[in-house]
Amino acid sequence: MLHPHSLYHDHLKPAELAFLEQARAFVAREIAPHAAAWEEKEELPRELFTKAGRAGLMGMLAPKAVGGQELSMLCFCLVIEEVARHCGAFAMNLAAHNALCVGHPLGFAGEELKRKIFPSVLNGDWMVAWALTEPNAGSDTGGVETTATPLPDGTWELNGHKLYITMGLHSDRMVVMAVTGKDEKGKKEFSAFWIETKDITPVRKVKTSGVRASNTSEFYLKKVRGELIGERGRGQQAALACLDGGRLGIAAMAIGLGRGAVDIAKQRMLTRRQFGKAIAEFQALQFKLADCEVELRAAEALLLQPCVMHARGQRFSLEASVAKLYASEAASRAANSALQICGGWGYTRDTGVERMWRDARLCEIGEGSSEVQRLIISRALLKAAAEPSAVPAR
Ligand SMILES: Cc1cc2nc3c(=O)[nH]c(=O)nc-3n(C[C@H](O)[C@H](O)[C@H](O)COP(=O)(O)OP(=O)(O)OC[C@H]3O[C@@H](n4cnc5c(N)ncnc54)[C@H](O)[C@@H]3O)c2cc1C
Repeated sequence: MLHPHSLYHDHLKPAELAFLEQARAFVAREIAPHAAAWEEKEELPRELFTKAGRAGLMGMLAPKAVGGQELSMLCFCLVIEEVARHCGAFAMNLAAHNALCVGHPLGFAGEELKRKIFPSVLNGDWMVAWALTEPNAGSDTGGVETTATPLPDGTWELNGHKLYITMGLHSDRMVVMAVTGKDEKGKKEFSAFWIETKDITPVRKVKTSGVRASNTSEFYLKKVRGELIGERGRGQQAALACLDGGRLGIAAMAIGLGRGAVDIAKQRMLTRRQFGKAIAEFQALQFKLADCEVELRAAEALLLQPCVMHARGQRFSLEASVAKLYASEAASRAANSALQICGGWGYTRDTGVERMWRDARLCEIGEGSSEVQRLIISRALLKAAAEPSAVPAR
């Protein structure tokens, strides 16, 4: 049967195809055999990030000039999907690192800061976290209460409380969103800062349902010194622009998790026997499998559109939301069906299916919940209907 990814290969350069093959080998060697143990231990080993950095996985979207791999968004998504097929927690870390933690300074920092942080953030020497969410700022990013105050030496002092930050306590450096004042209309002004993680005050690793091996964390910033990333007051715009790419990473993660769960279910269908025959012979299960395949292929097709737009230099916010919304909900349905196909065995923690089912659920919440994606999509459609000239060229 045609591998669904072979349809994408026309969009990849020979060097990207080669990178994808190397990434697949890396996943088979360094990730797949250990994912269940990391889940049990609720931790990803530090060396994994170093090895991933040496293999180019921590700098997939960054240009070669700063030490990155300069891959297309599509190639990045295919790598994330491959990782997620085996380990959702590491896929989420890689997706966030590349799109947000590297993407933010890459797109918005001044040359001096860039010289200081690249290539350490790309080669696995530094793990980086991206801290926007707070107890009162989730979907409503305007609720950020962390403040940054300028110091006489040109640096800033940050004070606040951050929650649910991926890699937070395990990172070396961090991008932090904070309030730097109010604009003339009295609206909060947001800016982004680069800080050293050793200066934060840890609270805890948050116990999550899925992606348990990931370091989801809570911490305080108490008089932490930070360096402004880019222009003062451009933090929110920059964060939203980075989230466009981040959402493609989450869509890819979701597809990988859905596929990983269905892969296990297919094997179980062929080997498990009930009523004197393989359960693969029951039409009720065959139809579940068919529905999973259709939805995952639809999710893959929807992900291709924003990737192509990114390659053309077009804005793809609406398309990123469409892809993320559909892929995350399709993956949850697929992982749920896969678990059902596997029966009691699927519900045990021996199989990987229930881990993927829990991990997939996160994709409906992280980097903008499904409700928020529906808001973004409907607002864009209504804006375009009200002002036809504002419709972006396709
Ligand atoms: C494992 C994990 C890792 C994370 N990693 C990071 C990270 O690295 N960095 C970071 O900054 N954040 C991170 N987050 C935070 C994540 O981005 C937020 O959880 C997410 O944006 C949702 O915010 P919330 O949890 O506060 O939900 P809330 O905003 O409290 O939403 C609660 C419910 O209300 C709905 N809702 C909210 N507003 C509306 C509305 N206007 N209309 C309709 N429905 C609405 C939501 O969809 C949801 O169903 C992570 C979260 C998790 C669970």
